[in-house]
Amino acid sequence: MFIPISPLEEHGPHLPIGTDLLTTQDTTREAMRLVQKRKPEILPLLHPAIPLGHTGMAQGFPGTISVPVKTIRTIIMDTVSSLAAYKFRYFVICTFHMDMGHLKGIYAAMNKITKTYPVKIIEPWGPYFYSQEVERREPKVGFDTHLEIHGCFRETSMMTYQYPYLVDPIYKTLPPMVYDVYSPKALGKTFKEVGATEGYIGSPAQANSDYGRWYFQEIVETVANATVDMLEGRATRDLPAKTKMAMRSMFWL
Ligand SMILES: [Zn+2]
Repeated sequence: MFIPISPLEEHGPHLPIGTDLLTTQDTTREAMRLVQKRKPEILPLLHPAIPLGHTGMAQGFPGTISVPVKTIRTIIMDTVSSLAAYKFRYFVICTFHMDMGHLKGIYAAMNKITKTYPVKIIEPWGPYFYSQEVERREPKVGFDTHLEIHGCFRETSMMTYQYPYLVDPIYKTLPPMVYDVYSPKALGKTFKEVGATEGYIGSPAQANSDYGRWYFQEIVETVANATVDMLEGRATRDLPAKTKMAMRSMFWL
């Protein structure tokens, strides 16, 4: 069972608030197709996408809806335990939204569920993303991409590939907004608190749909590969230790 879950968030003046949800939903569908090709004996099922998430950082920009980490934990736990009672055994939580609090809710639910039910459950994109695989594997684009965070080069590229009619062409004129939200000083702060004045962080003007296609496909393959590994009993990639530590240190969530 695939369960997509991502919040609605403002993404600057050029992208829809459903950006993460649309990406999560579409990459999940494609990943399911790949899984079915590789494992024809398996019938992947899709849970309707849950349009909720914790978004500590993008709060304060109109359109952003954040629910508490505990709510995410409860939603995942209740959804999966209902399904586990009907003997579903394999779950893939799909999210493209990499807010640490959001992941904290998802991972807290996953830990609890595996202690209570005989199920296997994975979240494939967080471990890939926080291992800096994107930077390692992405096509060379000629500028530093490590602070492309939100409504940025990557997300704008992906939306110009998936939904060009939902992207306002104004993105081509937007100036880069650079803020180091990964610095320890920024931990627990909102984008606004680190200085952001617009609803995006990064360089959307650099966006191109070829990169978008690459990124989209990368998510699809990451989700599909992790699912096949789980189904075949192989260990799947976990979050890096430093990400887990950072998550734990956010004790107020
Ligand atoms: Zn986003």
